Amino acid sequence: MEKHYDAIICGGGPAGSAAALALARSGGSVAVLDRAHFPRQKLCGGLLTWKTVRLLERVFGETPDSLASAGAIVGRSDQYAIKTADTSLARGTLPYPFHFVDRAVLDNYLLEKAVDAGAELFEGVTLDCVDIYDGVVYTKNDTLFSAEWMIGADGAKSVVRRAFRRLDRIRMRRLMAPALEVTLEGRDFPRPVEFPELYAGFLEAGYGWVFPHGEQVVAGICGLRRKRENFGRIFRQYLDSLGVDPDVVPEYRGHPLPYGNYVQEPAHGRALLAGDAGGFVEPLFGEGIFFALCTGWYAGEAVAGALRTGAMPGPVYARRLHRQIIPELRASDRLRWLLFRGMRWGGPRSLGLFVNSAATPLAEMVHGMRSYSFLRRKRWDFLEN
Ligand SMILES: Cc1cc2nc3c(=O)[nH]c(=O)nc-3n(C[C@H](O)[C@H](O)[C@H](O)COP(=O)(O)OP(=O)(O)OC[C@H]3O[C@@H](n4cnc5c(N)ncnc54)[C@H](O)[C@@H]3O)c2cc1C
Repeated sequence: MEKHYDAIICGGGPAGSAAALALARSGGSVAVLDRAHFPRQKLCGGLLTWKTVRLLERVFGETPDSLASAGAIVGRSDQYAIKTADTSLARGTLPYPFHFVDRAVLDNYLLEKAVDAGAELFEGVTLDCVDIYDGVVYTKNDTLFSAEWMIGADGAKSVVRRAFRRLDRIRMRRLMAPALEVTLEGRDFPRPVEFPELYAGFLEAGYGWVFPHGEQVVAGICGLRRKRENFGRIFRQYLDSLGVDPDVVPEYRGHPLPYGNYVQEPAHGRALLAGDAGGFVEPLFGEGIFFALCTGWYAGEAVAGALRTGAMPGPVYARRLHRQIIPELRASDRLRWLLFRGMRWGGPRSLGLFVNSAATPLAEMVHGMRSYSFLRRKRWDFLEN
């Protein structure tokens, strides 16, 4: 059986939903393929920054209040702490709160909006391989999809990315960070958690987090594998240092997180990569929801433009990423090595000194009000037109 569309979106996470929405609104025929049935679980701390909230307003027409009513936003906090296992390094108030989302609810909600706009959703469809030159998707369900254009939004282990021949696969693998996370009932955590806490010093190139999620607490770690580290053992030691009783820890899970391996050439043949599939995750804190939504939206708009004019979407998409996204990722990458090396030589206190020296501008940088590049005011093009 073969189905033909103007565009196929591989993956229905935030990147896929944003791409599908842009295309469906422009009137193109668009199919979204995902192996999962929604709502599906996604391992994630669920922290949203200011720029993510602004993008959700601009693209999806959703506010923190409407997302809270839908059950997607489960908490917010304008406080933060940065710690080691036994010392507080920094503690402060943010210029704008962090919001925390339940990813199962959020992703389902955004995908429904794309479907309401006209996208056709195929759930339980697993990609087998793709031909990015002919625009064909082979699935494990014996259905073949073809399209003028395809957007690879199929996450960190992207099947679409595998078809990009000129990719530096060694760099892609080396900078793929293991991330482990567990959700605990609030009563099982040794103390109330009211604001996000970040933990430094126990991974050479990574960090840990404890986030409040309504009645629950989410704790996780992510980092680059520097030696032959056993992340499972490090995670258990981390939970132990937080005072969590090992008997109350449900089975924890892991998922790779692109951590500095964003692709420089995000388009090839008839395919564009968005979100984790293109490695578009901020390399210091591992923020990926914003970058998935934003690159998905840009990719969708580029393909919509191509369907209208007959022009190639790749150069339009690449130009936009190189203006808006890649400079941020590159600057964040530089900053993280500065901080990780500083901690190696000066201990975790060097991180505390750095954060306390410019707490508000740095918080604005994480939120996206300022750029990771020299803390300049950041102008996001999606807020300008
Ligand atoms: C432990 C952890 C904590 C994180 N915490 C945060 C955080 O607090 N804040 C933040 O901003 N980011 C966080 N991130 C990053 C964030 O989760 C990702 O960057 C984001 O989900 C990327 O969205 P996406 O749409 O690109 O991919 P995904 O959300 O991974 O969606 C990809 C979709 O593709 C589908 N798919 C994959 N392979 C196939 C296939 N072969 N066939 C068919 N379908 C397929 C999947 O089912 C999935 O629905 C975290 C990540 C991890 C691992």
